[in-house]
Amino acid sequence: MLEIKDLHASINGKEILKGINLNIKKGEVHAIMGPNGSGKSTLSSVLVGNPAFEVTKGSVTFGGKDLLALSPEDRSHEGLFLSFQYPVEIPGVSMVNFMRAAVNEKRKYEGLAPLTASEFLKLMREKRAVVELDNKLANRSVNEGFSGGEKKRNEIFQMAMLEPKLSILDETDSGLDIDALRIVAEGVNKLKTPETSCIVITHYQRLLDYIKPDIVHVLYKGRIVKTAGPELALELEKRGYDWIKAELGE
Ligand code: ADP
Ligand code: MG
Ligand code: MG
Repeated sequence: MLEIKDLHASINGKEILKGINLNIKKGEVHAIMGPNGSGKSTLSSVLVGNPAFEVTKGSVTFGGKDLLALSPEDRSHEGLFLSFQYPVEIPGVSMVNFMRAAVNEKRKYEGLAPLTASEFLKLMREKRAVVELDNKLANRSVNEGFSGGEKKRNEIFQMAMLEPKLSILDETDSGLDIDALRIVAEGVNKLKTPETSCIVITHYQRLLDYIKPDIVHVLYKGRIVKTAGPELALELEKRGYDWIKAELGE
């Protein structure tokens, strides 16, 4: 599904990612944890093609294609989805129009006809139910005046609408109360199939009680410094990151 080899990336000439290697197979859920400022959001940004970051070395293949050669739009059309740590508000663009454009652009890329208005509304209804997103929100401008929790729920709704092959959830749990966390996590689990994969970036073990990772990585100073099973997340919750820094000789 995704193969990252020796990925280096910089912003304004400052190297943030310093040799990332990561392999994600179909059906797998990987958690990426690590202290603030380690490069977790940078990695997501680089994967979706944020032009602020410059890839200086390494390769990324996604479904056998050279991901780094694709435009951000085509990365999305190929089935890559990022739920942002800080979702943006798009005043003046209604959720309905935004999602219709996104869904139909993807269909066009796949050589399919656009959905009719009634097909589209049916899809909206079906997918809103996955994250219990209120119809009132669906009729407002994208994220405008949404609470933190509503924005995060909306991210998962968009994910549901686009049915990505690989979803990256960047701290989707931050700012969520326990009920919203459960709804978001259950939404992600409902959308999971043996054909799709997920990268869950989080600071907290509690999200991983709901979304069970197969593999847990620690990203620190731009490198993956530790990889293990789900028990690693529990250990990090108990012991923090100092023992990992000590192992690295810091
Ligand atoms: P994490 O998500 O793990 O907390 P980030 O990827 O957000 O870490 O940040 C990694 C490093 O990159 C930090 O030192 C941060 O200050 C720097 N960085 C991220 N975005 C920018 C930016 N737009 N301009 C300058 N530095 C940035
Ligand atoms: Mg951070
Ligand atoms: Mg971050």
